[in-house]
Amino acid sequence: MKKKPKNSTAAVAGTITKPKKRTRNVCEPKPKPEPGFTTEDIEDFQFREDEVGEIRASLLKWYDVNKRDLPWRRINDGDATDDGERDRKAYAVWVSEIMLQQTRVQTVINYFNRWMEKWPSVHHLAQASIEEVNEMWAGLGYYRRARFLLEGAKMIVEEGGRFPKSVNDLRKVRGIGEYTAGAIASIAFNEAVPVVDGNVVRVIARLKTISANPKDTATVKNIWRLAGQLVDVHRPGDFNQALMELGATLCTPLSPSCSSCPVSAQCSALSDSKHNPSMLVTDYPTKVAKVRQRHDFSAISVVEILEGEEDASKFLLVKRPEEGLLAGLWEFPSVSMNGEADVVTRRQAIDDFLKSSFGLSSSNVIEREEVGEYVHIFTHIRLKMYIELLVLRSRDVHRKEEKAVTSYKYVDTKTLASMGLSTGVRKAYNMVQKFKQTRSNLISR
Ligand code: SF4
Repeated sequence: MKKKPKNSTAAVAGTITKPKKRTRNVCEPKPKPEPGFTTEDIEDFQFREDEVGEIRASLLKWYDVNKRDLPWRRINDGDATDDGERDRKAYAVWVSEIMLQQTRVQTVINYFNRWMEKWPSVHHLAQASIEEVNEMWAGLGYYRRARFLLEGAKMIVEEGGRFPKSVNDLRKVRGIGEYTAGAIASIAFNEAVPVVDGNVVRVIARLKTISANPKDTATVKNIWRLAGQLVDVHRPGDFNQALMELGATLCTPLSPSCSSCPVSAQCSALSDSKHNPSMLVTDYPTKVAKVRQRHDFSAISVVEILEGEEDASKFLLVKRPEEGLLAGLWEFPSVSMNGEADVVTRRQAIDDFLKSSFGLSSSNVIEREEVGEYVHIFTHIRLKMYIELLVLRSRDVHRKEEKAVTSYKYVDTKTLASMGLSTGVRKAYNMVQKFKQTRSNLISR
């Protein structure tokens, strides 16, 4: 692998206690960054003391004027000195940060407001059931995070009900990692610790023209170190939010607004791009090939047990294992297939599963229809689901006793509608409903 020439920034930077010539003033054109460079250069990167001062001052000034008005920022936005108020702030930061790891700010606002209305404090949340939490979380995906919020709240309440105040203590709470701990400690408790998300990685990679693979552990570790140099000791929470806000609003991945950027004077990528037309600030951070998605296939059977009238029918739901993908969530019976599978193979697999796990026999079928296919994308998995509707007669169903190996239950449509189901399960149910509606429209014509 080609080794990157020693970065001129590193060569001149020295330590932060010895201000040296600014990298952005180095006029020698640098080679365009390439993925896969050794990360040893990044160890040498430092912000000089004067750079640190300028970046802190410019960024905080910009943030004070431009920060977005977001509901979690309104909670005790000021100098909350009372411990209870700080705890309330910590709880709001925690919930919002976990939600923001799932989706865009605009989507999170509604989820956050509803969540805080139902559980305004960690004490309220600790009283909730996992079903309620999943229901509130429905549509956000990655339900393990919601479960960790609940488990973390219970843990905090069991240990006295006060929020841990430092990164070290916060890390002991279930589901709180380095990023969330840094956010809570700096924003709610003024601990001068950094917070690094994708936005911060991008901004720092551009400020220091870091071409090392941004996914590499050593690179991430060094970006945390550099963010730690920058964080303002007097306003750490505001500074961390400002850095993330800059990445989210101005220093965007594809079209950064450098002309409006408060730290453009300290940005090496911008400086280099002015001296070398072949370079773009968007060359940083270096692009790395995406991890190939695994392709999975699953046969889903929406099993409906008819008990007289259709509105009295019940649906079979099965609980997923407590570990792994969508852990502990309820879903329709499903069987993993070894690749694309025809309808005969799928039905055979479903029949075997229903019989062995729930004692359901497909000889009592009232109706069995192929409803359609749906592809659900997880982070590293592309799951193709084949969805069928299987209607069985109640009196013919010989249900297995509760001691069956798989945890399952029968629920009516009203309960089903109010449950916290994953997006994929909700989609399968909606497809079945749409299928029935289309069919009844055709019949009534
Ligand atoms: S000058 Fe441009 S590339 Fe540099 S930090 Fe600002 S927005 Fe990002």
